[in-house]
Amino acid sequence: MSKGTINVSVDNIFPLIKKFLYSDHEIFLRELISNATDATLKLKHLTNIGEAKGVEYGNPMIEVKLDKDKKQLRIIDQGIGMTKDEVEKYINEIAFSGAEEFIEKYKDKDGKDAGIIGHFGLGFYSAFMVAEKVEIITKSYKDEPAVHWTCDGSPEFTLESADKKERGTEIILHIAEDSTEFLEESRISELLVKYNKFMPIPIKFGTRTETLPKPEDAKEDDPAPTKEVDNIINNPNPAWTKQPTELEDKDYKAFYREMYPMQFEEPLFHIHLNVDYPFNLTGILYFPKMTNDMSIQKDKIQLYQNQVFVTDNVEGIVPEFLTMLRGVIDSPDIPLNVSRSYLQADGAVKKISSYITRKVADKLKSLFNNDREGFEKKWNDIKIVIEYGMLTEDKFFEKSKDFALYPTVDDVYYTFSELKEKIKDAQTDKDGNVVILYASNKEEQHSYIEAAKEKGYEVLLLDSPIVPHLLQKMEGSEEKISFVRVDSDHVENLIKKDDEQISKLSDEEKEELKTYLDEVISKEKFTVQLEAMDSSANPFIITEPEFMRRMKDMQKTGGGGGMFGMGGFPEMYNLIVNTNHSLVSEILSTKTKKKKERLVNQALDLARLSKNLLKGEELTAFIKRSYEMIK
Ligand code: ADP
Repeated sequence: MSKGTINVSVDNIFPLIKKFLYSDHEIFLRELISNATDATLKLKHLTNIGEAKGVEYGNPMIEVKLDKDKKQLRIIDQGIGMTKDEVEKYINEIAFSGAEEFIEKYKDKDGKDAGIIGHFGLGFYSAFMVAEKVEIITKSYKDEPAVHWTCDGSPEFTLESADKKERGTEIILHIAEDSTEFLEESRISELLVKYNKFMPIPIKFGTRTETLPKPEDAKEDDPAPTKEVDNIINNPNPAWTKQPTELEDKDYKAFYREMYPMQFEEPLFHIHLNVDYPFNLTGILYFPKMTNDMSIQKDKIQLYQNQVFVTDNVEGIVPEFLTMLRGVIDSPDIPLNVSRSYLQADGAVKKISSYITRKVADKLKSLFNNDREGFEKKWNDIKIVIEYGMLTEDKFFEKSKDFALYPTVDDVYYTFSELKEKIKDAQTDKDGNVVILYASNKEEQHSYIEAAKEKGYEVLLLDSPIVPHLLQKMEGSEEKISFVRVDSDHVENLIKKDDEQISKLSDEEKEELKTYLDEVISKEKFTVQLEAMDSSANPFIITEPEFMRRMKDMQKTGGGGGMFGMGGFPEMYNLIVNTNHSLVSEILSTKTKKKKERLVNQALDLARLSKNLLKGEELTAFIKRSYEMIK
């Protein structure tokens, strides 16, 4: 037996490792299984190129064994193993110099190591986060005796020969008092599923009972025969590692269920990512059915590196609007030992992010081109992602022109250019602007929608929360268009044309009416505006100017605010009075004060009612007054 001291400058490295990584101890298992996988794949490579003479690669697996009584967790592989010299070199020197370097790097980081993705690449010594003693028993594929290395967490170690006969490495962790959670079968299972579910070498954890088919001659109440089989926890060949040509739609769906077993809804479609130059990236992204609430749908994409799970927070790697998708991306080219902010500035990561954006746009375009009807049907379930992408990524905005849809209140779906073509004759105003009318709620804005349709206008239904922001962007990027919500003015004014309407009232009468209305109607709430409209249009109409309302909406969803200081926006409406309506003439000619006031109040309340503004006490008063009037 030989003893030695690991050559590190820090006296005792292990308490430091524990301290710096206290929140993430569980990753030790991923690290050790990654090493076991690497050792196995190295052997595969050597046998493939004929460098390992006389070695049979066979069907190696990695085994994880738990012995609660002995407080041991073992990870056993059948990979290349290590000779005595290699243990000295790789474990005593390389592994520990790596440990030292790691600590040097993160010492000043407050112990919180906030930005480092999953402490990737910590390696072998992460075992000391959970073990008070670690043993390695290893036999190289080369014809050399096995060795046994033991270390109790101080820089001292022992190295002796061992009688292990089979090739490979066994790591024995003597689990520390403060880490006994890692002696629980359920906890280890959980970790294996979290980190190793798709690793390329089969991983066995215990056995499980498999039910076999009953023999032909079995009686009805004979129990079905069973068999103990290896419990393999991983799928070594997940769908994303295959070529798209090898997969059918059902394979993609099956993989979705494998990733999200608790998800019962099928994905709407998928995008297979597969590129090896100028960076290496594979993966499958799925569009699930989405709702308008963006925040609850994030963090469903998993990031892998060579089939090892790294994180499910892909912020900075995938453009933000796509974090609402699901699926996996696997790339060895994403630097993981850096902070998020550094990550976003990384050249390779930028390229990856724009590649993903492009692939998503291409897929949407081909879905649109190949099956427009199907695409239209999916639109409401996916529009939030697309609209958010149009708003936040300029390249995606450009590409979206080929497939972004603008549905009308009657479920006709136009692209932007189709829409413009369709409406340009009827909806160009006197200054040559094409005015696009939209509603955000079919029920609430019903009377305004009807009035616009009656004039032969198209009304879009745009109801995502980010629509006000998006419209702002559209108006900024397209010449001579503007979006106006149907309830922002009375219909004649939505799209201003040259033709003057003739008013039934004389100028004196208008003056008299205006003075009277200003007296009886609260100035804080309404600005009274007389308009000569069609006599069949409503007498009183309440509108909210597009600009004010849009600013208010934008402030609700973030951004666009600040313009009016911290105070928010005042409630401000216009009251349009149609001077050509007979009720308005009646108001003017009524002499009894009480009756006159009642007519005004009643008409005002009806206008408020159709804009959903009549509530509470005022609604009660309105109902009471209405009953009195029909008595
Ligand atoms: P890394 O894996 O990043 O190189 P580690 O600290 O995990 O760093 O391991 C150091 C070295 O020890 C590895 O590069 C490898 O040569 C050797 N090693 C670790 N685990 C095994 C194993 N299970 N079988 C064979 N060699 C191993």
